[in-house]
Amino acid sequence: MTDQLKPETLALRTGIHRSQFNEHSEAIYLTSSFVFDSAAQAAARFSGEESGNIYSRFTNPTVTAMEERLAALEGAETCVATASGMSAILACVMGLLSAGDHIIASQSLFGATVNLFNTILKKFNIETTFVPATDIHSWEDAIRPNTRMFFLETPSNPLTEISDIAALAQISRKAGAFLVVDNCFCTPILQKPLELGADIVIHSATKYLDGQGRVLGGAILGNRDLMMEGGVYGFLRTAGPTLSAFNAWIILKGLETLKVRVEAHSKNALHIAQWLESHPNVNRVFYPGLLSHPQFELAGRQQISGGGIVTFEVKGGRDAAWRVIDETRLVSITANLGDAKTTLTHPATTTHGRINQEARDAAGISDGLLRIAVGLEAVEDIQSDLSRGLDKSH
Ligand SMILES: *Cc1c(COP(=O)(O)O)cnc(C)c1O
Repeated sequence: MTDQLKPETLALRTGIHRSQFNEHSEAIYLTSSFVFDSAAQAAARFSGEESGNIYSRFTNPTVTAMEERLAALEGAETCVATASGMSAILACVMGLLSAGDHIIASQSLFGATVNLFNTILKKFNIETTFVPATDIHSWEDAIRPNTRMFFLETPSNPLTEISDIAALAQISRKAGAFLVVDNCFCTPILQKPLELGADIVIHSATKYLDGQGRVLGGAILGNRDLMMEGGVYGFLRTAGPTLSAFNAWIILKGLETLKVRVEAHSKNALHIAQWLESHPNVNRVFYPGLLSHPQFELAGRQQISGGGIVTFEVKGGRDAAWRVIDETRLVSITANLGDAKTTLTHPATTTHGRINQEARDAAGISDGLLRIAVGLEAVEDIQSDLSRGLDKSH
């Protein structure tokens, strides 16, 4: 049945398991453990003979509801929720890879993901080669006999580069590697990587899935074999970075409005991107919904719209960029994104500040670059707030 339903319907009508009270809004089950009717039932639950909840590190009904709803939206057989986006990436790697395996990853990844791959996984003899997100040949050239995973984010942060998911899925399959896509920026409303051939989708539910900046959460989605036999679920259940019932409930309710929110973010973002592109104090705007975006056509094939993140380079370098930030009175100066409130970030001195100047230059993170996660305020108000510093800059 769920196959024919539209996303906004799935977001409201899947994952509903009413209790004996027949509540309309989903209940929240704040309990660490579950009781059994008898010793025999306890034994059957532990042996796996009987399905059912045992302990909330393994399963919890509120978490299960959120997993079912997100799986329906992504078109995935299975979803496993995690405590954060980073623990989703960790569980994916710990479940699917072993010491001696090799990862090929996009150069343009979330900072903590780069750190995880570069420092922590390296200690366990899992090596990563970073390649340009948009250059298919460099992915092919990086393949080794022990390559087991391709990992990417599209659009990338902060430059909104687009990786060709379908093309990379073919290449990774030929290499015998899993393609993992961090779908945090688009959400399943705008992009469905599994349909394009990816094996696994990762989410930081902290961003648009919650959508109001309240909780941390994450998810891993893919087919049942990969999650279960592949060891992803086993890692979570054993190591423990599972999602709390309370956070699952927040995300479950956030999903209900995901479509209208993401569409509104995207509409506001396109307006801001077009306005910035015509602004005399702006050198360049990076937004997949603009004709000037180098991969406008690929973005149009792969995503329904450009999404909520707009990055732009102001004339006058760091001082001018900081002036735009410091002259705002409305938008929030914070590095988070995917919130209903607009947020403004200077990547070179915050999210990408730990990367040295040379690497930043190579990645195109210039000192004049600003990233806006366009929120749901009236677009005129966002625009006039940004104008204050921008009209003066340079
Ligand atoms: C925020 C983010 C993450 C990490 O998620 P957390 O919930 O903060 O752990 C991973 N990938 C992307 C693209 C992100 O924006």
